[in-house]
Amino acid sequence: MHEVLIIGGGVAGLTAAMYCRMRAMSVIVVDAGRVGGQLVSVYGDKPVHDWPGQHHIVANDLAAQLIDHAREVEVELVVNQKIAELVRRDAEGFEVVARDVVTLEEHRYGARAVIVAIGGGAFEPRRLKVPGEEGLSEDALTYRMPDRSKVAGKRVVVVGGGDSGLESALAAHEAGAQVTLIQALDRFTGMEISIERADRLQIPRHYNTRVRALEVEDGRIKAVVANTRGIPDPLRLACDYVVVNIGAAVNLDAVKQWGIEVEGNLVRVDQHMRTSVEGVFACGDIVTYPGKYKLLLTAASEGCVAANSAYQYVKKPQRVTVTDLYK
Ligand SMILES: Cc1cc2nc3c(=O)[nH]c(=O)nc-3n(C[C@H](O)[C@H](O)[C@H](O)COP(=O)(O)OP(=O)(O)OC[C@H]3O[C@@H](n4cnc5c(N)ncnc54)[C@H](O)[C@@H]3O)c2cc1C
Repeated sequence: MHEVLIIGGGVAGLTAAMYCRMRAMSVIVVDAGRVGGQLVSVYGDKPVHDWPGQHHIVANDLAAQLIDHAREVEVELVVNQKIAELVRRDAEGFEVVARDVVTLEEHRYGARAVIVAIGGGAFEPRRLKVPGEEGLSEDALTYRMPDRSKVAGKRVVVVGGGDSGLESALAAHEAGAQVTLIQALDRFTGMEISIERADRLQIPRHYNTRVRALEVEDGRIKAVVANTRGIPDPLRLACDYVVVNIGAAVNLDAVKQWGIEVEGNLVRVDQHMRTSVEGVFACGDIVTYPGKYKLLLTAASEGCVAANSAYQYVKKPQRVTVTDLYK
């Protein structure tokens, strides 16, 4: 029986785990894939500029530092196991059932408290749903940030003008691609710093434009066909690679099965990161509360709060002090 089991090893889960160890609790992190979350699975090559103390750190390197830190303080890390069930066993705690994503073997864990930190892992990237899209390989189309090696020297169309689309466009440009952006709205909606960079680099863009089809030949992309509001003739952009960053559809079926109340597509938490189930806490991109931002920094901060709340729940200290942590 672990004192705390954390579902998901992104920034939120890893920080919560590190903090559980600061409180000398036994903790296990179980991740459905690799530990590191979106930092490694969505934008490993991308520089992060808003992690305190690091003006510029590549996402993969930041993840490596967080994982090293967790290992250093003896957090148990389990990979490739997706949590399927979470049930209260008795007053003492929960039973958590995980399934190995490769062998499908079942693993059962006991925990006094659980922290849900499944972030974007519960999210499915939104698709264009246009002719030609189905069946394209990652060599022709991606819904994540593009690998530099896959776009270098190519004609790349990036669909989406939010944070992810702009960052993909900038990364592809830096990798030597000839980039064009397509945005459905009449303006970009990402961080100002990314919009300014895209403007400065004069990355060609088409606002008010929606993709209608992908022209494909022998599994290779030939062109993106789109309509621009107010212009009768379709736009045809010849290209070799397409990046689609138009958001994510959420699948919270698992979380609902665990009995946790959701709001919209997120888990509602209070300021202690408590969910509707006593003994189950949540943090990171999966949670919502007034003023929530989906960022690395907030995920980490919420992980710390969730860990301290789990500590109070499990250990029931007479008084919670933080200064004893600074020794
Ligand atoms: C393209 C892009 C660029 C970004 N750039 C920045 C940036 O520069 N700065 C910034 O602050 N933020 C950035 N963000 C946002 C930031 O990445 C997220 O806010 C942060 O990663 C959230 O961390 P998390 O731990 O909540 O979730 P995640 O990183 O998504 O980790 C969740 C983990 O849970 C696992 N998981 C899911 N379901 C299960 C299950 N059932 N069982 C077991 N494990 C499960 C997943 O495998 C995953 O490893 C960016 C996001 C994107 C998409």
